[in-house]
Amino acid sequence: MFIEPNHHSQPKQTSLGWIEVVCGSMFSGKTEELIRRLNRAKIARQKVEIFKPAIDKRYHDEDIVSHNENSIRSTPVNTSEEIVLFAGDCDVVGIDEAQFLDQNLVEVCNKLASSGKRVIVAGLDMDFSGKPFGPMPLLMAVAEYVTKVHAICVTCGSVAQYSYRKVTSQDKILLGETDSYEARCRRCYHLGDLA
Ligand SMILES: [Zn+2]
Repeated sequence: MFIEPNHHSQPKQTSLGWIEVVCGSMFSGKTEELIRRLNRAKIARQKVEIFKPAIDKRYHDEDIVSHNENSIRSTPVNTSEEIVLFAGDCDVVGIDEAQFLDQNLVEVCNKLASSGKRVIVAGLDMDFSGKPFGPMPLLMAVAEYVTKVHAICVTCGSVAQYSYRKVTSQDKILLGETDSYEARCRRCYHLGDLA
């Protein structure tokens, strides 16, 4: 369980920002963990802004919605640079589905953190083919804190880290189709249809 570092002893103008990454496969609870951290920041009376790529229109244009229907209002962005424009004077910046944003997100997060903001980024660490996804690997490198959350393999019940695609499309992005995926462990992922 991630516990927020305590920076209360520092006056606000000298407080340092930092980057947290929450990553994992589909059905691993990434968005739930992002929402948990953002809600705790709100309880601490911090100003929170939440962004997600405009490409992700799975459920609702403005809400981050996780699979358990916990939701939180968010702003859709087309490029990572827009996050800098919209972040304003907030204390905490949340970004969901970050794997769909451009590589410049790394610079954007560094800039926000260096200006004193807490930046929490959630996203898929690997695509369906098991390759690092979009800006996520670079974000994991520059973040102060990285949390890898895991799903449960639907085939054998082990800890799962892969998003196995059950349909044959080779498109990297197959949106709105959570039915087309299942969480699998390393062994069952590589067994494919034989698992
Ligand atoms: Zn398995």
